[in-house]
Amino acid sequence: MGGLSQSDRAWGDLPPLAKHGQIPRSIYDLTYSDLEDRLVANGVRPLHAKSLWRALYQRLETEIVQHSDILPPLRRWLDKHLNTDLTLDTPAVTECIGSADGYTKKLLLRLADHQEIETVIMGYPGRFTACISTQAGCAMGCVFCATGQMGFVRNLRAGEMVAQVLHAQRQLRSQGESGLRNVVLMGMGEPLANYDAVIQALRIISNTRGTNIGTARITISTVGVVPGIIRLAEEGQPYNLAVSLHATTDAERSALVPVNHRWPLAALIGACRTYSATTGRRVFFGWTLIEDQNDSRDHARRLAELIRGLDAHVNLIQLNPTRDFDGRSSGLNAAVAFRTVLQEAGFACTIRQRRGIDVAAGCGQLRSAQTVSR
Ligand code: SAH
Ligand code: SF4
Repeated sequence: MGGLSQSDRAWGDLPPLAKHGQIPRSIYDLTYSDLEDRLVANGVRPLHAKSLWRALYQRLETEIVQHSDILPPLRRWLDKHLNTDLTLDTPAVTECIGSADGYTKKLLLRLADHQEIETVIMGYPGRFTACISTQAGCAMGCVFCATGQMGFVRNLRAGEMVAQVLHAQRQLRSQGESGLRNVVLMGMGEPLANYDAVIQALRIISNTRGTNIGTARITISTVGVVPGIIRLAEEGQPYNLAVSLHATTDAERSALVPVNHRWPLAALIGACRTYSATTGRRVFFGWTLIEDQNDSRDHARRLAELIRGLDAHVNLIQLNPTRDFDGRSSGLNAAVAFRTVLQEAGFACTIRQRRGIDVAAGCGQLRSAQTVSR
């Protein structure tokens, strides 16, 4: 066969996993059209993709059981390819911890190479949100973040991100709930440092034939990887963008977010303006409030100035405790005062409800148990 198929190219783009050896590639790494391509390349009609997709993403089957839906040509294809060039492996859920208030569940997942990652399910009245990880660890080193404190281990494959959504769906079904409404890429890792696998995963989970999480209900949160933001805009990716800002001067921001040295504020805000102008979308800004460091009214005024003219929504997050950072969380009064300044300047602004702090499932508290030496 001449030339590379779409799916071959996608494999070629996957990050090297030299450190931990090669992990078998799973069927959950494939988009719907990748799956059709695979079937066609093996002489199976593409319509069989539909029934396989239903089994995986609607019935949430973990092994393809003898189901009337799986017709003989597909069954033969599965028999031949599963466990040879494709697997049905998914990370195992090793622990599921519920917070005392019952709203938050933290799933601890073990990957094939024994890395551990975390997925958080947050419940709000009538809706559930999954907060998923995109990397094991993170290279960005934000000083207040437990994932940053553990350092980078490796990128996740698309299928490892998809599996987190499926595990969350299974968990919700077992509780008699209808399923997820929102997915946020705010777990461990920096999504735009694992761009191709992230976009691949989002195409899979938003596919209307399967889990069908609407693209408007998916948010990519970035520490400010400027080329990634520009690429999202150029490609017209239909997901929400959240940018974690935390400061309005380079000196203050670099002290919290070292990667600010690489993409300073002027470049970052410039990229947000380009993104907004190109896509017509609102940009969400995340601001972690740290007492006496970035939570004054003056900080709020400077933030309003910095993002003036942008269609923006600011999310305030009160700092959650982590082992290696001794900053304190701002109180609710400071958060409310900060919000008022922004609202008076014309910006939408919300204070994120604190969730899961007691089980270390709050923002920035996610950290593989393996590397925690408490
Ligand atoms: N790497 C991406 C997404 C994962 S971090 C990013 O940085 O945006 C998700 C969010 O948690 C970010 O907004 C981050 O600033 C915030 N966060 C990290 N550590 C925190 C902590 N200790 N308390 C509160 N929020 C935190
Ligand atoms: Fe990485 Fe985000 Fe944590 Fe920073 S805040 S270290 S970018 S996960």
